[in-house]
Amino acid sequence: MANISTLNELFVEELRDLYDAEKQLTKALPKMAKAASSDKLRAAFEEHLQQTEGHVERLEQIFEALGEKATGKKCAAMAGLVKEGDEIASETEPPVRDAGLIAAAQKVEHYEIAGYGAARTHAELLGQEDAVELLEETLEEEKETDAKLTELAESTANEEAAGSGSGSGSRRAPAKTRTAGSSTSRRS
Ligand code: FE
Ligand code: FE
Repeated sequence: MANISTLNELFVEELRDLYDAEKQLTKALPKMAKAASSDKLRAAFEEHLQQTEGHVERLEQIFEALGEKATGKKCAAMAGLVKEGDEIASETEPPVRDAGLIAAAQKVEHYEIAGYGAARTHAELLGQEDAVELLEETLEEEKETDAKLTELAESTANEEAAGSGSGSGSRRAPAKTRTAGSSTSRRS
């Protein structure tokens, strides 16, 4: 029963998916923060929780400007990503937990980056300039979060997981441990 036939309808559908995804994240991030072993990672999750609350508000602004009710539509992908994060948290011992949590969180960020990128492009095509701007702001925060997670993975979590553990002060883990983290967001 296909009933989405215009780009505008598709755009609203995408917003509903993102809205539900962000709301799921506001519940998941406190749990991820609690599961984190390092203070730095916990702080990063807490900071992203604040940002995520802002992402929810931006979507509400867009719904309002479009004259649409702010309602979400179950985002199955985010539910799956959150479930995997929960599994990693419960299946890992502290020395490798942060490396696992970072990887799980980056999967979430990449999903959001794809979703916001598509929604922003569709808003552009529809001439919805205000929505473009709001979606772009959130997109940038998701990208920054992804880059920050890569940095945390490279500077501490991977090193600890690899067993060297004494890398305080060294910004980068040895090359052989630099496997986690997104290559798409690596700053070089
Ligand atoms: Fe977000
Ligand atoms: Fe995010």
